[in-house]
Formats: sequence, structure tokens, C-alpha cells
Amino acid sequence: MRLTRAYLSIACCCLAIAFTGCSSFTRKGSERSALEVERNIQWPAGKRAAISLTFDDARSSQLDRGLPVLDEYGVKATFYVSLNSMEKRLDAWKNALANGHEIGNHTLTHPCSGNFPFSRERALENYTLDQMQAELRQANASIERLVGVRPVSFAYPCGQKFVGRGRNLKSYVPLVAEDFLTGRGWMDEWANDPAFCDMAQLMAMELDGKDFEQVKQIIDRTLTNGGWLIFCSHDVGDGGRQVTLAPTLKALCEYAADPANGIWLDSVETVAKHILR
Ligand SMILES: [Zn+2]
Repeated sequence: MRLTRAYLSIACCCLAIAFTGCSSFTRKGSERSALEVERNIQWPAGKRAAISLTFDDARSSQLDRGLPVLDEYGVKATFYVSLNSMEKRLDAWKNALANGHEIGNHTLTHPCSGNFPFSRERALENYTLDQMQAELRQANASIERLVGVRPVSFAYPCGQKFVGRGRNLKSYVPLVAEDFLTGRGWMDEWANDPAFCDMAQLMAMELDGKDFEQVKQIIDRTLTNGGWLIFCSHDVGDGGRQVTLAPTLKALCEYAADPANGIWLDSVETVAKHILR
């Protein structure tokens, strides 16, 4: 009986795959996540957990305070850029890319819920899926034109994944799944399970405002269950709203650099590709 049920589920999976084809990132990703449930994914070189450091909005302090620390430790991070900010310091962003950091898509106009006053004119509640898809693709084309690389990683502005409202609300996760290798959320509470996670809505935890003791607790918890922890930062500096503390960033890089701690610290793209391989 159990065997029949197993055959049935495999047949269903095969049918689903046959109907959806296999040309996009999404379908590869979701086939794998469906089939690899319970599979034990090993981190490279016997590491016990993976961490990705990510930075949103292409803020200047990321170049001035963040990159020097990352480069000192040879850490490769993912930067989800806002185009206006990126254009102001384009050469510096091109340098970051040349140094092995990843540039990701963060939409063209950073639409969030209209409850945020800054987003009322481009509120997700008033968006359609077609509008969102056009915006995602336009942002990718603009980034490619500016820095010569087409992003494969995406971060949801404000961590919000919907368009519309109420009964007409729709998730735009499937659009991200279609065009990108990964989609990253924000303000989540846990690390990703590499054997189970949905690449189109990876969870990310806030790094802003935390001292290293708080960060270490989160990392050590991830080390015990072999997860993929994604941290999200905005500015880098000495304090304030949405600021990752520079000493915390340095301490984190130092902790990850100690081989005894078993941490693999790399960009979202690199870790995702390892999992999908
Ligand atoms: Zn943002």
C-alpha cells in the first residue's frame, strides 16, 4: 500500500515536471526541492553550516564601511542594489563585482506596502503581476547594461511578496522563481534548511543593530542543525536605524574565518548553486 502511494507520488511529480517543462531556474529549483526533501546535503570541506551576508539598496556606507571589512577577510557577499544609488557610485560597484562580490536585483522602484509613506505612490496593493514582472525584468536589463552582469539573485523589497489586496491579492513568488535562481525575504526568524528550502523565498534574518553576542547565538544555533543562514544588512556604521554595526561585521567575519567553527561564508549565488548541484 505504502509502495503504491510512493509510486503514485513519483508519477504525479513526473507528470508535473512533464507539464511544466524544465527551461527556467524555477522549475529546476522546485523539482529539486520536491525531490530532495530529506536528502542530506553536505557543505563543502566538512563545514557545518553556511552563512551568506547580504546588503540591500546599494547604500554608500556599504562601499565605505562594509566592503573594506569584507575584503580584509576575503568574504564574498551579495548586494541587492537600488539602481539610483548604484548609478551614483558606479565605478565602486564595478570594483566590488570585480573583487568577487555578487550584485542582485531589488526591483526598479523598490515597491512596498503603501502603509510605508515612502511607498504610497508605488504601493504593492496597487500593483499587478504584469507590472511586477516588467519591473523585475527591466531592473535586470538595467543592471546588466550598467555593470555587465545579469543578476540571478533577487531580494523582495521590505521582504513583501504580494501584489493587490484582499481576495485579489496574488503572490509574486512564482515570477521570481521563473526569472531568478533565488529570492530572499527579510525579517525572518530562522535559517534555511538546504534540503527543504524554497529557493524562491529564502528566509533572511536582520543583522542591523545587533551586537556580536546576539549574532553568535544565531550562528551557533545554525551550526547545530547544519542550516544556511542568510543575514540582511542595510547601512554599515556605528549605530542608528537599519545600521549593521561595523564591529559586529568584523567580529562575524573573524568568527567565520576560524576553521574550528566550521562555517562556510559565501554569496547567495554560490551557496544556492552548491545546493542545487
Ligand atoms: Zn530595500
